[in-house]
Amino acid sequence: MADQLDVAALGAWVQEFARSVAEHKDELTTLDSAIGDADHGANMDRGMSAAVAALAEKPPVDPAALLKQVGMTLVSKVGGASGPLYGTFFLRMAGALGPDPADPETFARAVRAGLEGVVARGKAEPGDKTMLDALVPACDALDAALADGRPLGDALQAAAEAARTGRDATTPLVARKGRASYLGERSAGHQDPGATSTALLFDAAVTALGGR
Ligand code: ADP
Ligand code: MG
Repeated sequence: MADQLDVAALGAWVQEFARSVAEHKDELTTLDSAIGDADHGANMDRGMSAAVAALAEKPPVDPAALLKQVGMTLVSKVGGASGPLYGTFFLRMAGALGPDPADPETFARAVRAGLEGVVARGKAEPGDKTMLDALVPACDALDAALADGRPLGDALQAAAEAARTGRDATTPLVARKGRASYLGERSAGHQDPGATSTALLFDAAVTALGGR
């Protein structure tokens, strides 16, 4: 079926995310220089470049193996908060997928499992000015659109839009988790770097998977 997400489709998503992260590397770093240590662009680019290189070197056989490889690469290649958090996201997604191509509902359940992994690892909540402020609304929108019977492409569009809205809504927030929280009230007035990269992750899903 056209909307089954196989290893090639998920590989295309990972590749598109890596390409987009490279394109937005400076922007992510500029955001992190305002409320962090100016390394989010470099962290994500190093991790995703390594993930794409690992996929090329050792092509994974199925969706779960692919996402596991991406997660392991991010955990091992990226220091800082984002490596373990994004790494956990992909590892938990892998754990929720079997060897078979995923239908849209299975994919959405895997994204939800990834989100739960980020929460378990980072102990943040929506409103703390983190990547979760993009991830939670994106996940909710994906589930809601699929429950409405909308096709995968529409559901991913809705998720990406919700992620961008959540990203934008981080600007006035005071950070309660991560490095930005050290700034207290001074963290308000800046868009969160991690929420920004998470919005790119869903834009990449629209580009790579949305036409299926
Ligand atoms: P570091 O903060 O270690 O320098 P990065 O700059 O790569 O790591 O990533 C910073 C981003 O990580 C933040 O913008 C935020 O979105 C995310 N983040 C930090 N701590 C947490 C947490 N506990 N839970 C979820 N996301 C977090
Ligand atoms: Mg940083």
